[in-house]
Amino acid sequence: MKIGIVGGGGRMGQMLIRQVARTDGATLAGVTDREGAPALGQDAGLLAGLGPLGVPVTADPVALFAAADAVIDFTSPAATPLHAKLAAEHQTALIVGTTGLDEAAEEALAVAALSTPILQAPNMSLGVVLLSALVERVARSLDIDWDIEIVEMHHRHKVDAPSGTALALGQAAARGRNVDLADQSVRSRDGFTGPRTPGTIGFATLRGGDVIGDHTVTFAGQGERIELSHKAQSRDIFAAGAVRAALWCSGRSPGRYTMTDVLGLDQ
Ligand code: NAD
Repeated sequence: MKIGIVGGGGRMGQMLIRQVARTDGATLAGVTDREGAPALGQDAGLLAGLGPLGVPVTADPVALFAAADAVIDFTSPAATPLHAKLAAEHQTALIVGTTGLDEAAEEALAVAALSTPILQAPNMSLGVVLLSALVERVARSLDIDWDIEIVEMHHRHKVDAPSGTALALGQAAARGRNVDLADQSVRSRDGFTGPRTPGTIGFATLRGGDVIGDHTVTFAGQGERIELSHKAQSRDIFAAGAVRAALWCSGRSPGRYTMTDVLGLDQ
């Protein structure tokens, strides 16, 4: 399968170049970055710390989508509408790891999914997919006397908060409770907040250093609490999941998919 990478100069982009290069059945169809990015013109292999691969980093997503069977996007929410449109035009599968997407980006993905497979996951690691399933299961078993709080920590460069993974874990808890997260979420607290409103799902965000991604979901009851945690120790887990997802998309019908589909897990 010919796999293209947009945003190849980024932290995840470089991981993805290495992952495609070492995956049987995958070849690198091309790599882009944004206009003006330092990676432009560099050989993708050298950029990723490998030997030369003969694939230069360009700012031409049209040529990339024309050449690739699947494209992996870990870039920025502003880039998603164009990538979704190109994926639909060229019937290229699109794997979206970018987080913090706004309504316009989500809508663009929904439209593109009518023409091509769109696989979106705020966290491509096996551990977080399993954590999400566990959170939904536990939330289904506990009544609202158990307060649900989600704490995440990421490196100092992360630009969106709470993380896409924290929000997805909140969605899992809300599904388990059979409530709408939008009605129940408390995204931050500051000052005189008053007592906690029963049934809400709270979020707290920490930023610092080079933390790749830690998430803990706490179910706090009277006299006891349950904590479910995941700690990412390497970005390799996200890159491996994304390339596995790209290969899984081969021959799939148009539509929206998640890592739960790739891993064949029942929710
Ligand atoms: P980064 O800033 O290191 O890299 C982003 C790259 O995208 C940069 O090279 C940037 O120049 C490039 N870019 C921006 N706009 C572009 C455009 N229009 N066209 C092409 N390239 C463009 O960021 P990162 O740490 O690699 O994270 C990228 C995204 O992936 C973030 O949204 C992050 O939250 C998300 N992420 C998701 C997962 C997951 O498993 N789903 C894991 C880690 C990070």
